[in-house]
Amino acid sequence: MTDYDVVVIGAGIQGAAVAQAAAAGGYRTLVIEQYPEPARGTSSRSSKLIHGGLRYLETGQFSLVRECLRERRILLRNAPGLVKMQPFYLPVYRHTRRPAWKIAVGLSIYTLFSLRPFHWIGRWRWSELDGLVTEGLKTVFRYDDAQTDDARLTAAVLQSAESLGAEIRYNASFHAASETEGACRVEIETARGSVHLSTHALVNAAGPWVVEVASRISPMSGQPAVDLVRGTHIEIARPLRGGIYYVEAADGRAVFVMPWQGHTLIGTTETPYRGDPAAVKPLESEIDYLLAVYNRYFRAELTRGDVINAFAGLRVLPRSDGQSAFSRPRDTLIVGNRSGKARIVSLYGGKLTAHRATAEEVIERLKPVLPKRQVVADTRKLRLS
Ligand SMILES: Cc1cc2nc3c(=O)[nH]c(=O)nc-3n(C[C@H](O)[C@H](O)[C@H](O)COP(=O)(O)OP(=O)(O)OC[C@H]3O[C@@H](n4cnc5c(N)ncnc54)[C@H](O)[C@@H]3O)c2cc1C
Repeated sequence: MTDYDVVVIGAGIQGAAVAQAAAAGGYRTLVIEQYPEPARGTSSRSSKLIHGGLRYLETGQFSLVRECLRERRILLRNAPGLVKMQPFYLPVYRHTRRPAWKIAVGLSIYTLFSLRPFHWIGRWRWSELDGLVTEGLKTVFRYDDAQTDDARLTAAVLQSAESLGAEIRYNASFHAASETEGACRVEIETARGSVHLSTHALVNAAGPWVVEVASRISPMSGQPAVDLVRGTHIEIARPLRGGIYYVEAADGRAVFVMPWQGHTLIGTTETPYRGDPAAVKPLESEIDYLLAVYNRYFRAELTRGDVINAFAGLRVLPRSDGQSAFSRPRDTLIVGNRSGKARIVSLYGGKLTAHRATAEEVIERLKPVLPKRQVVADTRKLRLS
């Protein structure tokens, strides 16, 4: 008899969702988190969008967009207090690299997947757009997507997992694990010392720590090569009333300008990162880059003194020589410790939006090593608040 059916390392959105799916499947579930609360890693430092990702159509990631839009529909239904639709404005200037026709094609495909139409904003309404610069402006598209509070959403999913019986241990660091005789032995460090426990299955949902955690699990073979890519946001004390603006930076990257708690959030960047994920911070050059984007499109001359908050998170992206971070795939890689019946699974990368679908897939993948249990809930129907 093992102590647990499923042990999950990490209380970010992915770990929370796996715990929810495991508990909904009737499995005895434990989450271990090194920090004293959930979402202290990437899951509080994202762009906070529940979206299909319009720009992923450009790189042919159609199935990711379709899956995320399906999950957006589920979240809007299950978490109406946490996930809200917002108008998104996409201005096209004379200098914009992507031509208006190409954006219209992308939006048409997005409409097919999301079943929500896009519009052109008439010239007479441009003055309503939060002071958006109109010199050189050729057209403005409007479509709808959703925004959330990523940390609150993570806490809500975790609470849902707890209500289904999952246990959560904070201030508990995963130390090592090994697969032996049809189970996993796991060692955790806590303030009171080492704790040893056994589980049928182990899920490494350690976000940017995934590689480090995987290196302390045996046997662990065939793990993918990944890069950590920093994404920074800045917050300025100006309200934004119209909605979310999706603008093109001077280097062609898409940047969001978003309303956030009565202020404006601007992000994001993509800079390679090496080192301890716990030490990631925004670079001064990234802050300047984001200020320049805002100043360019909103008739402002903001300086570093206007930035009231800045934070950085880390994406886990497949390593690729020569391909920019911007165009690398954003799907979650679910990797088992063996090609057949995997008992240990690691999650690399992925989207906040797709957490529930990813978790469902993880549990499906682990079923061959899990005991038969009575399903207690369907995560597609669980309310989150
Ligand atoms: C800049 C940026 C913007 C993004 N914007 C969006 C967006 O708008 N929409 C979207 O859908 N997605 C977005 N994403 C992607 C999304 O935010 C991430 O995929 C998601 O938050 C990752 O969650 P996670 O649970 O895998 O990682 P994390 O949230 O980092 O959680 C990992 C957890 O594991 C814990 N942990 C690590 N090691 C140990 C250990 N040894 N013992 C115990 N616990 C451990 C950590 O403390 C942490 O709590 C964005 C990502 C970035 C970086």
